[in-house]
Amino acid sequence: MPNFPFRLAKVVRRFVAFLASIAVVLGLSACGGNSTASNSDKPVVLTTFTVLADIAKNVAGDKLQVESITKAGAEIHGYEPTPGDIRKAAQADLILDNGLNLEAWFAQFVEGLDVPHAVVSEGVKVMDIGEDSYRGKPNPHAWMSPDNVQIYANNMAKAFAGLAPEHASEFEANAKAYNSRLQEVKDEMVSKLSVLPENHRALVTCEGAYSYLARDAGLKEVYIWAVNAEQQATPQQIARAIGFVKDNQVPAVFCESTVSDAPMQQVVGATGAKFGGVLYVDSLSEADGPVPTYLDLIRHDAKIITEALTGGTA
Ligand SMILES: [Zn+2]
Repeated sequence: MPNFPFRLAKVVRRFVAFLASIAVVLGLSACGGNSTASNSDKPVVLTTFTVLADIAKNVAGDKLQVESITKAGAEIHGYEPTPGDIRKAAQADLILDNGLNLEAWFAQFVEGLDVPHAVVSEGVKVMDIGEDSYRGKPNPHAWMSPDNVQIYANNMAKAFAGLAPEHASEFEANAKAYNSRLQEVKDEMVSKLSVLPENHRALVTCEGAYSYLARDAGLKEVYIWAVNAEQQATPQQIARAIGFVKDNQVPAVFCESTVSDAPMQQVVGATGAKFGGVLYVDSLSEADGPVPTYLDLIRHDAKIITEALTGGTA
């Protein structure tokens, strides 16, 4: 678990932040989105991506300032942090990452920083990736099971208690309240997807990011590539997906918001399946988009999948 010897270190970091702000004023610093992190008196928590930021906000209430390093819509696996991200992180009080090899860039990102970090997936029951060169490695998308996110929320409450012990009981209560909403949304998702007939219980996506959701909802998961990376959608991978869709007469296939759907459109073109819609997994949408929160994300995906696979009103 994270180490929290940072009461004193915090003073040092604030001073470093002060120096950094002088550097910005003097124009010595690389350009890029200026941090708003130091504008508040609240402790600052940075998360690696938007889904974690939303969960963290629910646990933190108004006691902490929570921000995501990557923006809505960003590809998060192979993200390349900017100088602005590094400046912002140096001023933060705590950084949360998913772990399970999700953020390939994270170890190097925090290496030179004197800021504690906590891995929020710690304690979840991990599913392994079944195919491709990732076989046997943990599937990092553990948040796609709301049950796991209950563990995420509890881990965050603990980490926040180390950051602001005077609010520990509030963080715990917030996590508890959020966990009951997670339970509701999971029950809703399972019941929504339970209407799918046996021969249509297959979820075909671009990235293999749905193992946890598919397990919870009793769907067979098929994907073109295992994890978003530089090499994806080889002709063999596309052929395999086409074969599955044809063999099983799968009525609809899907792709995620953070990647190109071109490979899946090839599957659509080569089979009788229709394109069922854009699913969200690695990022929330902007506030005015379809999935501004994690709970919205699960509800949205369950709706799109159900409507497309039942030939419903999508
Ligand atoms: Zn992913």
